[in-house]
Amino acid sequence: MPRTLFEKIWDAHTIVDRDDGQTLLAVDWHFCHEGSFHGFNALTEAKLPVRRPERTLGMADHYVPTTSRDLNAIDNPEIRSVVDQFYANTERFGVRMLGIEDKDHGIVHVVGPEQGISQPGLIIVCGDSHTSTHGAMGAMAFGIGASEVAHVFATQTLWQARPKAMRVTVAGALQAGVAAKDVILAIIRQIGAGGALGHAIEYDGSVIRGLSMEGRMTVCNMSIEAGARAGMIAPDKTTFDYLKGRPGAPDPADWPAAEAFWRGLQSDPDATFDTTVRLDGGLLEPMATWGTSPEEGAAVSGRAPDPREIDDADRRAQFQGSLDYMGLNGGVAIADIPIDRAFIGSCTNGRIEDLRAAAAIAKGRQAKVPAIVAPGSMPVKRQAEAEGLDRIFNDAGFEWRESGCSMCVGINGDLAAPGEHVASTSNRNFKGRQGQGARTHLMSPASAAAAALQGRIGDVRDFAPRAL
Ligand code: SF4
Repeated sequence: MPRTLFEKIWDAHTIVDRDDGQTLLAVDWHFCHEGSFHGFNALTEAKLPVRRPERTLGMADHYVPTTSRDLNAIDNPEIRSVVDQFYANTERFGVRMLGIEDKDHGIVHVVGPEQGISQPGLIIVCGDSHTSTHGAMGAMAFGIGASEVAHVFATQTLWQARPKAMRVTVAGALQAGVAAKDVILAIIRQIGAGGALGHAIEYDGSVIRGLSMEGRMTVCNMSIEAGARAGMIAPDKTTFDYLKGRPGAPDPADWPAAEAFWRGLQSDPDATFDTTVRLDGGLLEPMATWGTSPEEGAAVSGRAPDPREIDDADRRAQFQGSLDYMGLNGGVAIADIPIDRAFIGSCTNGRIEDLRAAAAIAKGRQAKVPAIVAPGSMPVKRQAEAEGLDRIFNDAGFEWRESGCSMCVGINGDLAAPGEHVASTSNRNFKGRQGQGARTHLMSPASAAAAALQGRIGDVRDFAPRAL
């Protein structure tokens, strides 16, 4: 039987199928962060060890400061207590953990691929929605809940219902100024925030094939924002070139066998998908969200919808509610939406290529509003500094930070003020995501840099990228 990429990985990890449709899966890697204390508490109560500590990796990313690499810089005792608890739990259970003092520290979804741990054909789980990021490597990767975290800690297995298969093809070629973030925002706008519910998405087509690994991770990262269980891209030469030589990658002697196995993971030519979606990449423009759901986005040359022109009552009420929260009038031109602050970073867009794209716009220009750049990891930060990107950002009035989730969610205190419009390279624009009353506009790193320069969303294509 011809099979899809997802089916091949699923079948290879199936331990047993239950009559109620649940499958027990073997888990290759379990990533955890500070929010995993419920799972550690459950282990403590049950007097159980972590089943495979050598296949478990912790990252202190959500709660840690980005202004310093010193835990003593955390002045909120509750935040400090969560971080301390994570350090203590990982040590007690023998789990390797990358704290802020570690040279390889970073956001969990940046670190896994960067260290070569996230590889094609694996099942990777983490108590975090954006685990789908690792699907860019050709892995099946998904977020799990607190009780599932405890189950994986204790057994290195997981019960799951088999998702349906969706193929999203992005054909053609992208125009100048259009980035991976614009592609995924366009996909979510087209299929909706629930468009991929119950599916594992496989992205394909010439646009996807043409993306770097960083771009592919941006796309897979936001699969969850379309409701998908996972998002993945079949491994190819781009994947193999990215992985080669990374610490967790196969040794040179094992590489030919690994690559041959990975090549076999591609969906068979006549494999069938439950749902197929197609976009013409050549028609895409830079995008930005105007509302409070990632599906509420538009091209920067377009306008937010005017609820008065929408017949469907539910949709009209949804859009009106979003516009009210965002302090915007229906029909406003996207480019004219004011911006009070910019954030460049997160597991969606905190990688070196993202910082280069933003720096190429910021170079030799001046930010009109406060802007921070938080690299996705310390290796990204070191690389950026080696290339002089930190100086470009500092000279342009952007604040250069340490690695961590930072303003993506603001748990560490990096927050926007109520009412502020934030140009953000993160993945969620839900109400209050970046602070109570804060208004998030999702966009690409280059677009966020351009927005910081203008104090409005504008159009990144008005700024010629400068050589770095
Ligand atoms: S950067 Fe944002 S989305 Fe990514 S893991 Fe951190 S909080 Fe979650």
